[in-house]
Amino acid sequence: MMGDRDYRQLIKNAIDSIGKDIEPKIDPKDNNTIHLHEVVRCLRRSYYDRNDPKEPIRTSFNNLMSGLLQKMEYGSGKGEFPLENIKLKGQADMILDDAIIIFRSATELPDTPFSSDLLYLNGCMWIFNKIDGIIIYITEKGNEASFSLTKNKRMFEEIVRRVRVLNDLLDEKKVPILEPSQECMSCQYYERCFIPRKIGRQITIDDLLGRKISKKNIE
Ligand code: SF4
Repeated sequence: MMGDRDYRQLIKNAIDSIGKDIEPKIDPKDNNTIHLHEVVRCLRRSYYDRNDPKEPIRTSFNNLMSGLLQKMEYGSGKGEFPLENIKLKGQADMILDDAIIIFRSATELPDTPFSSDLLYLNGCMWIFNKIDGIIIYITEKGNEASFSLTKNKRMFEEIVRRVRVLNDLLDEKKVPILEPSQECMSCQYYERCFIPRKIGRQITIDDLLGRKISKKNIE
């Protein structure tokens, strides 16, 4: 807090407003339109986003990079891939000749790309019919690492399988099973899936020793 103004809150409000503005708009009643980002992450989270949603925890401007690039339409693109009765929709951050490029923020540069990013990039390659893809990770300090991928059929079959699973579960109003992963730590539905994040009071070694002593005293 500086003076009368809570700058932390002002920044948080700005991140929330921009985040809401740039996130892909989903019609929760249209079960036959599935968005690529919904199936490369936990399906249970995507299900809750459509049924009984809760605001996500937005912590940094850095995490808004991909959405901002798509919004600015600086070489970005929207497309869809028909799967019988279902439309799979996706957005690429940048399309250059025969390549799709996606940008991701990272606290530290990864040694290998995250599986969800590989699935997303590959999905975009099928949606936009491109053969090459690049993921670029950028840290808050401006360091970057890039990884390339060629269009992969097996990986896309996994996307298609997940699209059908989510579509069926939405139609049947059945909550998908837990998909425990690192994603859970920043998920707004953590408490629905697991225990509350914080317990009322930490139990310390002193508490335990104290209990032992008092028991001994009684004895
Ligand atoms: S807490 Fe984990 S399992 Fe539960 S919805 Fe979120 S990401 Fe999925």
